[in-house]
Amino acid sequence: MKVLLVVSVLTIVGACAHKRHSEKLADLKDGIRFEQENHISEFASTIKASDLKSIVYELSSNDNEGRKTGTYGHNRASKFIKDYYIKKQIASPLGGENYYQSIPKSFLSKDFNSSQNVIAYIKGSEFPEEVLIISAHSDHLGMENNIVNPGADDNASGTAAIMEIAEAFKTAQLNGFTPKRSIVFLHLTGEEEGLYGSRYYIEHPVFSLNNTVANLNIDMIGRIDDRHKDNPNYIYLIGSDRISTELHYISEEANAEFTQLDLDYRYNAENDPNRYYYRSDHYNFAQMGIPVIFYFNGEHEDYHQPSDTADKLNYDLLEKRTKLIFATAWYVANNTQRLVPETL
Ligand SMILES: [Zn+2]
Repeated sequence: MKVLLVVSVLTIVGACAHKRHSEKLADLKDGIRFEQENHISEFASTIKASDLKSIVYELSSNDNEGRKTGTYGHNRASKFIKDYYIKKQIASPLGGENYYQSIPKSFLSKDFNSSQNVIAYIKGSEFPEEVLIISAHSDHLGMENNIVNPGADDNASGTAAIMEIAEAFKTAQLNGFTPKRSIVFLHLTGEEEGLYGSRYYIEHPVFSLNNTVANLNIDMIGRIDDRHKDNPNYIYLIGSDRISTELHYISEEANAEFTQLDLDYRYNAENDPNRYYYRSDHYNFAQMGIPVIFYFNGEHEDYHQPSDTADKLNYDLLEKRTKLIFATAWYVANNTQRLVPETL
């Protein structure tokens, strides 16, 4: 009886509030305007298919032995990422040349050695304590029967995307466009074993979670799934409207202005049987009430197979998808008003 009463009251209130709600949405949408578009395009142009390709080939090479958490191969890949940031003069928030957030063996499931997240950042000019985290996992499945799982799409693609986004923001900084908020480049370990790296970060945050304005998480963005074979200009976005309606519209506006991809939201459906929303690292941030977007190309025949090789990625598409994330990050990091974690 009580439940029914509540429902009927809500229905009446809902009907009366309907117009106000749609007006609110329209106001929110209209309020999102990119400025400095020419500069954003200029710095986005440093994100190049050829650079992404060379990073993906390096990360997925046999030398890294499939990058299983806690192994020689994953440690080798971590060092490659760290050396990249040192070379690009992108600092670590941990100080000096310490880019590793070490994760002890005891935190990981048994059979895994200690491992590390790799973390770099660009300090904001106006609101340095407020941070945007761009994340991707760097680990993969390792070797089985001496056969390497190269994980080129999963997730050398996302790792390379972060590194190129970091370079673009660094170039912007060198040209006088330091982001207003801090931007953190977070390469997570232990994802394939159960989102360990992101859980460790949440339990040991380097920046206050209350001041973490959003998490853009990238996991597999270099391939084309069967559904889009004939129309590959797409990306799946998951979670963008679940915690912040504003973030969803920022993402849409970034795409309309700069990349014109087909944004496919089918996997964002609450009842999606694949439950992708719960299956990559952004979920640990979402659990803390932090607005997230998960960027994903969908599964394909080489998913979690030794055949997930670097020659099968579409690097022009990887470039375009990376630019979408860069433009979205630019807005979130530079808007005068902090992103509001509120759904309308
Ligand atoms: Zn993955």
